Amino acid sequence: MGTKIKIEFDEMNVQESVTYILSTEYGLKPNVLKAEIKDDSSGIMILTLEGDQSKIDEAAEGLRSKGFTVSSLERHILRDKARCFSCGACLSLCPTKSFTFDEKTWEVHLDIDTCIACGSCVTGCPVKALRLNL
Ligand code: SF4
Ligand code: SF4
Repeated sequence: MGTKIKIEFDEMNVQESVTYILSTEYGLKPNVLKAEIKDDSSGIMILTLEGDQSKIDEAAEGLRSKGFTVSSLERHILRDKARCFSCGACLSLCPTKSFTFDEKTWEVHLDIDTCIACGSCVTGCPVKALRLNL
């Protein structure tokens, strides 16, 4: 599935083509999972990168030197277990099948590693138990 990273940019570097840099300068295969840009031209991009870890580290440093903020994606989706009542609505909403239903316990589980931060479950959860932390 590749290494998931978050890149933050602002009006100074919004015009730079991150995917072009990653592929041509570092030989990586980037796949953009999500990109959001605000009115002030700042924003975030979530990508998976395929390639050698040494090249990924090198690329992250290279992007930082161009003014981007680069970080690994960890705990990017949060679930409030006190609110979640395992209704299962999120199972059908998730494109990566990150939710599973445990028939023994009747509980819904979330696999954060496969989550691509699309946000579908966040808007679809009836009790707002899910939140993207990007
Ligand atoms: S939709 Fe919300 S309440 Fe229902 S199982 Fe998913 S997280 Fe829990
Ligand atoms: S944010 Fe998208 S990919 Fe992640 S768990 Fe929710 S529906 Fe699935």
